[in-house]
Amino acid sequence: MRTPKVARSLKVRDNTARNPEVAQGRGFGTRDSRWKGQPNHQSQITIPTDGTRWVSEERQPVLPQEPTSLLNLIGNTPLLELFRIRKAYPGVKLLAKAEWFNPGGSVKDRAAASIIAAAEAKGQIRKGIRLLDASSGNTAVAYAMIAAVKGYPLTLCVPKNANAQVLGLLRRYGAEVILTDPLQGSDGAIRKAKGLAESVPEKFLYLDQYSNPANWQAHYHSTAVEIWQQTQGQVTHFVSGLGTTGTLIGTSRRLKEFNPRIRSIAVQPATPLHGLEGLKHLASAIVPGIYDPAVPDETLFVSTEQAYATLKRLAFEEGMVIGPSAGAALAASVILAERMAASKQKAVIALIFPDSGNRYLTEGLFDELPSSVSARVAYRAH
Ligand code: PMP
Repeated sequence: MRTPKVARSLKVRDNTARNPEVAQGRGFGTRDSRWKGQPNHQSQITIPTDGTRWVSEERQPVLPQEPTSLLNLIGNTPLLELFRIRKAYPGVKLLAKAEWFNPGGSVKDRAAASIIAAAEAKGQIRKGIRLLDASSGNTAVAYAMIAAVKGYPLTLCVPKNANAQVLGLLRRYGAEVILTDPLQGSDGAIRKAKGLAESVPEKFLYLDQYSNPANWQAHYHSTAVEIWQQTQGQVTHFVSGLGTTGTLIGTSRRLKEFNPRIRSIAVQPATPLHGLEGLKHLASAIVPGIYDPAVPDETLFVSTEQAYATLKRLAFEEGMVIGPSAGAALAASVILAERMAASKQKAVIALIFPDSGNRYLTEGLFDELPSSVSARVAYRAH
């Protein structure tokens, strides 16, 4: 057991990322600017090699100090260093954006909030209109949470074989759910939503996350800025899975503006039939309107088996239980880390962990492969 050097120390979560000052872009600059005005702060902090931060009792943890809205907690997620996994790759840092810290439990809170805010700004949300979109999971939950907070009626087209916990949550939030053909996956849900919007345009406002620029702009204005600030401009690579492609496109565009040498790596399932919920195999799917093939410098293809094996490793070695698409992002990042270490190059790889594994536990996330997954993979054709 490591003994903290600071007498009477408490181990607390580092809430830097949730500092309201940071949210407004004011809390950065010097590494410890949040401790400004507190004398001798550096002598009171010991950072052991596993990154755990010990803070003396006199210090106040940084949390929102005033009552706030649930929606104000979207974004400003922590960037977690994978200390154990990186050890095998000298000179490489692996930093994962822990998007399950968002109040709806996933990265899609950012896109959904941005899409709804853009519709509000355009005056499109009028009395009598229902918000409408297609989603196979996390966006649906994010929309449902936000619509509940704001009191907006909401209809979601969701494949019938969507995660049972997601479907349960949608009902709990009070959204109207239209279940679509499971064999058509997320593409079937998109076709249904489009059809509804075209046939009853006066009733629905089709938010269309796949073509809506407010999707990628959410990441341009938040995710990228946070990664840049949290790495103090040291990030060299950005790795993200492709679903609607909003995370990869928006974050990469902004990071490349900060530093054009930052490399953007997209991650796709290796096969059309896969178990990587939230990700699309673009060659066999409807390509999202917001996707721009000029943005990623490289695409890495990851199999369901590779991603699931990585998930297990992450739970055992880093204590993080995360979703399958995060396993794919990490598997790709490890390929990259191996490559960089082999050529003796330094790298700071930022990657996205879109959601937690808790949502998938009832689906046998940690069961042995291939049997448990392959059955679902075959069924979940998308
Ligand atoms: N992983 C999960 C679990 C998701 O729900 C999504 C959203 N479809 C993604 C990755 C991909 O994010 P994006 O839509 O921004 O490409």
